[in-house]
Amino acid sequence: MPCPLCGHEKTYKHGKTSKGSQRYRCLNCKQTFTSTFDTIYYRRQVSFEEVRIVLQSHCEGTSLRGISRISGLSYNTRVSLIRAASQKAQLVHNGEV
Ligand SMILES: [Zn+2]
Repeated sequence: MPCPLCGHEKTYKHGKTSKGSQRYRCLNCKQTFTSTFDTIYYRRQVSFEEVRIVLQSHCEGTSLRGISRISGLSYNTRVSLIRAASQKAQLVHNGEV
């Protein structure tokens, strides 16, 4: 897979993380990353469904406290998820405009 940090094509497998997912190392920038680096699931222990609920209710204008009642996730988790998602969206926007 190409390097998410510098875009270099050549990356090598570089052991496993403590969670057992594959870790890669970039030949060009010498940094390591895992296959979920490019997603908001990177280094998170929330499920796809939980993320979907949080983001969807955020988009519908539900307050953070309201999301808490729906998802059962902690306040900090939700704030950080929403923040990560909006950063991600900003990157996609910048990359394509
Ligand atoms: Zn790189």
